[in-house]
Amino acid sequence: MYFDCESAMPSYNRLMKNAFKLLLLTTIGISACTAQTSPNQATIEPLSSAEISIYDQIAPPISEHMKSPSILVFSKTREWRHEDGIAGAHMHMIRLARKMGYGTFSTENGAVFNKDDLAKFSIVVMNNFTGDGLSPQQEAVLENWVKEGGGLLALHGSGDSSHKDWPWYSDEVIGPTFVSHPMDPQLQEARVEMLAPNHPIAKKIPAEWRAIEEWYTFDSVPNENFTVIAGIDESTYSPVNNVYGDVSDLRMGEGAENHPIIWSRCIGKGRTFYSAIGHMETAYDNPVYQQLLENAARWVAHETDKDGKGC
Ligand SMILES: [Zn+2]
Repeated sequence: MYFDCESAMPSYNRLMKNAFKLLLLTTIGISACTAQTSPNQATIEPLSSAEISIYDQIAPPISEHMKSPSILVFSKTREWRHEDGIAGAHMHMIRLARKMGYGTFSTENGAVFNKDDLAKFSIVVMNNFTGDGLSPQQEAVLENWVKEGGGLLALHGSGDSSHKDWPWYSDEVIGPTFVSHPMDPQLQEARVEMLAPNHPIAKKIPAEWRAIEEWYTFDSVPNENFTVIAGIDESTYSPVNNVYGDVSDLRMGEGAENHPIIWSRCIGKGRTFYSAIGHMETAYDNPVYQQLLENAARWVAHETDKDGKGC
């Protein structure tokens, strides 16, 4: 269920509608808005007052002049905030969208995940999204949008362990659970190996390449529902956490196939992609990674692989 007052205010522009909604929410309560229920959300409980203070309730205004197709870049954080990584991904996605002929809309407002607004986008980028930032209603809208054919790109911190409140996202989109990353040194160069060379996301990508990153370690490799696109060779960097003391040995195993770092999946009619790369703004300067992200964006948007062989 989500709240929408547009049907009650047909002559106002979006900004005025949102101001009206805010007034309603703060003075006479959310029950004044029209409660709309979509079929897949019928069992979701109404938000408590505590939840209303956490989750965004009023969708950001989206220009009617926004290009179509378009990419939504979402970078809300309620846990660790990657200022550099968010800025780097944000700048890069704007550049990539221009190259692809797409528009972009960037926000940290989770209320953008309503059915009407999400229908305006072909790709959603979870840009270092952390923590419990979406209401159950907003989560259900995004899940349904993916299943109906949407393309989701999740970057770096978006795959940390802070999303356990949202099992569909943490289990079905991300998969393995983040454990930790090396410290001292935190950023290291490592050899990346492509593990699905015939996948559309691997097009024009060399079989091996190098990147400087804060390399994530996960508790397992992705299960059989995922396609592992790339992994890293642990012998080319020091997979040790020397600082926090809780976990020191971050090895997952010899061979890149035992330490996946990028993977994809098809869910319903939709396609998802996760890359653990992107701690620093400079991650997006790597031309190989730029090409890989373009391949991923075109793949999740169904521009390539129309018959779904990459699923
Ligand atoms: Zn990071």
